[in-house]
Amino acid sequence: MSTQATGVEFETVIGLEIHVQLLTASKMFCACPVTFGAPPNTLVCPVCLGLPGSLPVLNRKAVDLGLRTAVALGCTAQPTSQFHRKNYYYPDLPKNYQITQYRYKVHPPLATDGSLEIPKEGNLVPGGTGRLRIGIRRVHLEEDTGRLVHAEQHGRIRYSLIDFNRSGVPLMEIVTEPELRSPQEARTFLVLLRAVLQAIEVSTGKMEEGSLRCDANVSLRRPGAALGIRTEVKNMNSLRSVERALAYEVERQRAVLDRGQSVEQETRHWDERRGITFSSRTKEEAQDYRYFPEPDLVPIAVAPPWVAQVRASLPELPEAKRRRYVETYGLPEHDAELLTSSAAMARFFEETVRLFPHPKAACNWLVGDISAYLNAAGKEIDGLPVTPAHLAELLQLVERGAISGRTAKEIVAEMLAQGRRPEVIVGERGLTQISDEEALARIVDEVLAEHTGPVSEYRAGRTQALTFLVGQVMKKTRGRANPEMANRLLKEKLKS
Ligand SMILES: [Zn+2]
Repeated sequence: MSTQATGVEFETVIGLEIHVQLLTASKMFCACPVTFGAPPNTLVCPVCLGLPGSLPVLNRKAVDLGLRTAVALGCTAQPTSQFHRKNYYYPDLPKNYQITQYRYKVHPPLATDGSLEIPKEGNLVPGGTGRLRIGIRRVHLEEDTGRLVHAEQHGRIRYSLIDFNRSGVPLMEIVTEPELRSPQEARTFLVLLRAVLQAIEVSTGKMEEGSLRCDANVSLRRPGAALGIRTEVKNMNSLRSVERALAYEVERQRAVLDRGQSVEQETRHWDERRGITFSSRTKEEAQDYRYFPEPDLVPIAVAPPWVAQVRASLPELPEAKRRRYVETYGLPEHDAELLTSSAAMARFFEETVRLFPHPKAACNWLVGDISAYLNAAGKEIDGLPVTPAHLAELLQLVERGAISGRTAKEIVAEMLAQGRRPEVIVGERGLTQISDEEALARIVDEVLAEHTGPVSEYRAGRTQALTFLVGQVMKKTRGRANPEMANRLLKEKLKS
């Protein structure tokens, strides 16, 4: 994205740092269970409380999930990597250091140099063609901190509580190259990254539960010039807030540069309610953290057979799925992109097609009415009581002419919200389409008798009168008449 003002054009440069909670049963360096929503401070032990004398033991499953991600993103898994201590004091960090992986050349992080493709238009728009490769600088492992809960009164923090259940939960950090060029591209990247993480079952990817968190480095520069001074934007808790926060920050920096001032390197927090970013602290330099190798943990050795085993165990990735939907099912690029942008949606689609083998029909409903419903409700399809069997049944009802397309649209919301079978809803509401020729012929006769004006108009050659008559049949049957049959019967009877 370029922003233009007072004759100076700037290019937006965005890099993302994404923290992912890994789907392990226990914490990174101790045996405490990982459970979302447990009572505060019930899932703790001397290790994750940072008590003196306790020693960390690495969770192998976390390394495995990190490697799955690395391979899925085309990264090089480092044969040996090392944990480091990142030293700083904060109330949610009982040891006064976080065990993480720093980017030392001699002690590299778990994996480096991968990429993920996103659609070139920067958004999932119809007709969008071409893809962009966004570089992944590194994938590394670390432990989460505790969680501070601030009790506020009249907008001021009165006191703060600390929950150490999250302390030591396995985290993976994915760092992109600064290759995203707009807030929209950043959002699209996150959607597709989340789809990968869900497909390979390393994370739930739920931003609202904090299992996927995104920080962004934002700067502006003249095209082709060196990178400008960046700010780090934090506290973006949904895809929508990522896009809004970055758009705000880009405009803010542009205004600073337009005034001839320079951007300050700092951390800024996104305030969702006020729709602004605000300065929270000047950014520490890496040397402030005094990184050094963690002496209590041996380096992680990843031999080639481990990587090969991980590679062989990966399922079909969203990118391959998207291509298959286009090539095998003949779906439009845009639809295939939408279906594969969530693992739950792709699974739902494929199961529906297995039950009712008409991919285009299933796809139309999923990217049309069902996606509209999900967007409005702010939900994912696996958060609804509806199953692929429900959608397949709806499609069958339409296919065999038992209900009209219009009726199907009427009952889809009820089917999604309550998980009730379409056949039951149709039966209860008396919505079955009238495809019985004799029954419909009687109604057509009635309509012809009641509207002699349009009938003579039609017979005088003004064929548009037919549309009116079809409308009358639909009205009389409360939309239940099979439209093609009504049309044919009317024509036949008008000719005679
Ligand atoms: Zn513990």
